[in-house]
Amino acid sequence: MPAHIAGTLHATPAPVWLPYPDDVNALLPSLWSDNVTKTDDGVLTIAGHSVTDLAERYGTPTLVMDVADFRSRAEAYLSTFSNAFSVEKGLAGADVFYAGKAFLCTAVARWVHEAGLGLDTCSLGEMMIARAAGVPGDRVGLHGNSKSTAELEYALDYGVARIFVDSLDEVARLESIAAARGTVAPVMLRVTVGVEAHTHDFIATAHEDQKFGLSLADGTAARAARLVAESEHLRLDGLHSHIGSQIFDISGFQVAAARVLAFRAEIMGEHGIDLPDVDLGGGFGIRYTSQDTPIPVAEMAAELAAVVAKECRGLGTSVPRISIEPGRAIVSPAVFTLYEVGTVKQVSTDSGTRTYVAVNGGMSDNIRTALYDADYSCTLANRNSNAEPAIVRVVGKHCESGDIIVRDEYMGADVTAGDLVAVPTTGAYCRSLANNYNHLPRPGVLAVEADRVEWIVTPEDHTQMFATDPGMAGGETSN
Ligand SMILES: *Cc1c(COP(=O)(O)O)cnc(C)c1O
Repeated sequence: MPAHIAGTLHATPAPVWLPYPDDVNALLPSLWSDNVTKTDDGVLTIAGHSVTDLAERYGTPTLVMDVADFRSRAEAYLSTFSNAFSVEKGLAGADVFYAGKAFLCTAVARWVHEAGLGLDTCSLGEMMIARAAGVPGDRVGLHGNSKSTAELEYALDYGVARIFVDSLDEVARLESIAAARGTVAPVMLRVTVGVEAHTHDFIATAHEDQKFGLSLADGTAARAARLVAESEHLRLDGLHSHIGSQIFDISGFQVAAARVLAFRAEIMGEHGIDLPDVDLGGGFGIRYTSQDTPIPVAEMAAELAAVVAKECRGLGTSVPRISIEPGRAIVSPAVFTLYEVGTVKQVSTDSGTRTYVAVNGGMSDNIRTALYDADYSCTLANRNSNAEPAIVRVVGKHCESGDIIVRDEYMGADVTAGDLVAVPTTGAYCRSLANNYNHLPRPGVLAVEADRVEWIVTPEDHTQMFATDPGMAGGETSN
């Protein structure tokens, strides 16, 4: 062990939420997918495959997906919500649409469809992936606050189940496109209900200052509903609300549901129509570190079902079929990112000595820490450490001091160049937000099952990365 990491120096303090570990080599509970464990030697394994083997064979950095965990999580969401909103319970059923923006490739689209979920998209590219994967249009939704004519035309050709209309401009645009084709477009209106949800609390206001949706408070939503209801080429199927992401407080969803259902009752009364669908959005919080305690899915479903039943009873309306759109909660816990340590450095700071563990990726494969101040955990993945636990900061290799992956975590103080580090819960908004900053090729996503290991997204190579630079054609393309 390098003497300078031996704990003789005063180290930076841990954040209050991060306890000193009983066993720094043990996996923290509920942060890793079902089929991930460690051997007695401290080697991380997934469905029986050791990460040391995977790293040697497939390279790092790599996002590693526990396929069985992903599929069972998707199935569990659907069965839990279908159950809570069942007709036997006096409700009208539930659909789960996986939010593809969290992470989407053809394999994931296929697995989502096979699990019985629908798929939400928000661009031409996402719809093309869904279609190539064989997901029928009637299991697809199209979101977006600035959809192009080409995207709306594609959606109608594809026969998507629902187009989430987000502005008055879009009402007019979609109507003229549908009219030109002599067809009727299925519309869900995205309304802003004045609920701003944060991780552990929410604010209910009249207005919301953000780019998405049609305001309930200023009457824009009611105008849009009137235009859609009166159009021959638009069919108003229902309403949609999405109040935020990584939410732990159920009361934000309850307030939003109550406001949407009240607005639904008004529209149905005014236009003499039934609105069969209400979509309550996604944003269900998950556990990234030991400080996060998400609401169990069954509790969330039961609470939402109770609100919907109660509000509809009070309003004297029919009960709508409910849909939800989780992205993060389905895919994030199924994936970890595997890195190799490049350098370890001690830095003196005002609050003590900080240990920087720099790996061979960074904000190009996980920008959430830099972008959202997100917290992650990590573990030494190739061996046990007998050294004292030390607080470390895991950083990337980019030319940017904000290039942090894990702000604070305990690792054995002998962590060193060549070690493997695994960061759990990176399935959502990591590969989908990956970029080529500093001209690093984007990592692949490796799908692991007991009897099968395969790329579902191949690692980008330099030739692919340079394909958009005409000056690199036929040039230096070695990896
Ligand atoms: C992002 C988004 C979701 C998914 O959010 P998660 O936090 O990944 O569950 C669902 N619906 C809409 C409209 C979104 O924009």
